[in-house]
Amino acid sequence: MAKHIFVTGGVASSLGKGLTAASLGRLLKSRGLRVTIQKLDPYINLDPGTMNPFEHGEVFVTDDGGETDLDLGHYERFIDESLSRESNATTGSIYQAVIAKERRGEYLGKTVQVIPHITDEIKLRIRQIATEDTDVVITEIGGTVGDIEILPFLEAVRQIRKDVGRDNVCYVHVTLVPYLGPSGEQKTKPTQHSVTELRSRGIQPDVIVLRSDRPISNSLKTKISLLCDVPEEAVISNVDAPNLYEIPLALHEEGLDTYLCRLLHLGQGGEGGDGREDGLGEGGPRQGNAPDLSHWQALVHQAEMASKPVRVGLIGKYVNLPDAYLSVVEALHHGGYAYGARVELDWVQAEEVEGLMVDGRLRDLDGMVIPGGFGARGVEGMVAAAGYAREQGIPCLGLCLGLQVMVIEFARNAAGLTGANSREFASAAPYPVIDLMNDQREVVSQSNYGGTMRLGTYPARLSPGSKMAAIYGSELVFERHRHRYEVNPRYRTRLEQAGLVCSGESPDGRLVEMIELPGHPLWVGTQAHPEFKSRPDRPHPLFKALVGAALGRAEGRRPHLIDPDTFQPEEANVAVG
Ligand code: GLN
Repeated sequence: MAKHIFVTGGVASSLGKGLTAASLGRLLKSRGLRVTIQKLDPYINLDPGTMNPFEHGEVFVTDDGGETDLDLGHYERFIDESLSRESNATTGSIYQAVIAKERRGEYLGKTVQVIPHITDEIKLRIRQIATEDTDVVITEIGGTVGDIEILPFLEAVRQIRKDVGRDNVCYVHVTLVPYLGPSGEQKTKPTQHSVTELRSRGIQPDVIVLRSDRPISNSLKTKISLLCDVPEEAVISNVDAPNLYEIPLALHEEGLDTYLCRLLHLGQGGEGGDGREDGLGEGGPRQGNAPDLSHWQALVHQAEMASKPVRVGLIGKYVNLPDAYLSVVEALHHGGYAYGARVELDWVQAEEVEGLMVDGRLRDLDGMVIPGGFGARGVEGMVAAAGYAREQGIPCLGLCLGLQVMVIEFARNAAGLTGANSREFASAAPYPVIDLMNDQREVVSQSNYGGTMRLGTYPARLSPGSKMAAIYGSELVFERHRHRYEVNPRYRTRLEQAGLVCSGESPDGRLVEMIELPGHPLWVGTQAHPEFKSRPDRPHPLFKALVGAALGRAEGRRPHLIDPDTFQPEEANVAVG
């Protein structure tokens, strides 16, 4: 039977609970345990798919087309497993399932109530992912202890301990220890209150993870241990890290995984566990080995060593909330690690692009990413940026909407299709080079949401000899999608005659998946969202190619930016891609 670790948060939201859960997952996986992670979100939307990115940050798309919380991106990047839509449930989706059962008469005339029906459905979601092949399920509860909406989730996870046995469950509570400038002190009172609140719901935390902006002294840990009734070794300090991939190592130093393994009887819980990997260890699940963190340490070292500056502009419409582009930003950093390059992001508000072309800010970019998005705002700025990159030879990568604006720009300015646009932004465009496919039109006219999007993983065939095929090193690739509109097949020949290469298409040849421009250092776009598949130790090839090309531009054109300690003259002017 799988062991369960529940991660709750207190004091404030945005504490980095997701990163704590993801890091713990990495540590347990490094012990040879089979780990999966799940997020339960107390809001009422069925999923974050309909939420404005300003509200909720990025919508992370899983292989099976789930539109999920951005924490799933952290989970995938840290534990290096592809998760499914089942790894994210919301209050809305839980109520929807319960109400559907009620309508089918499955409750046999009973009064349907929060306890036990909603809580049973929550428990079902948790048990559902605790498959035979799983040793440990980490479940993060979104929101903060004390919220009204969180109560059914706390009740459900409290009950689970009784259902599956005390030795199979533990609770990790993440809180904030603020520093008060005037008195020069770190304060534990918010943590005490938060633990009291959790206890009032029947949950005594086994471990407390303290988030803080500076190290926590041992005396403070002793105090929290005493007042919150957890052993001192279970009070874990988690100080802000300069690089988020350092967090697993820091938590390991603090003994988090060792303690939890001991509590859950996963191996000896120490360096030199009993090493059983045959699944026959006592209690069912595999026994953890001593953690092998050498690979992760090497990755963190590589990230620390990444020092060659490379300036990449992110031309977006949600740039005021960087979380809206979380996976894109991470994928760029991963690309940087591969080259020893430190990617400096220039957040460019798409609506301001025209002005920035005049004042030189765009010219100073080494590379550009035009990310995904919905709605007309900012699109003209993105089109202008794509054109600037094309004409000035600036490496440019378009993602989903990014590909669409590149096609619009090329149609208008290179293929003579004046006024070309996407039907999403101009229903009466003279040349709708981006449009809904015929079979989608009717569905979209009936409903604005759900059902109509191309979601999840789709294959693409890459043209032999194309830049895309060279970048991927393969002619058949699989990427995750989240969009309604496509390159309009009616204009494909016209665009190709003008020099655009549609270097990736769906296996049936109907849909354009990738574009590129020959003779340019790198001007490529994909209809997919490759950022979701990038891993810190395995950068996605497209992001790696962009950083490589941007580095070529940085070192060739702006040597004054290069750190003399690390600059190697023979690397200058390398044109990659
Ligand atoms: N708005 C565009 C579409 O629906 C692009 C979507 C995206 O970038 N994810 O096709």
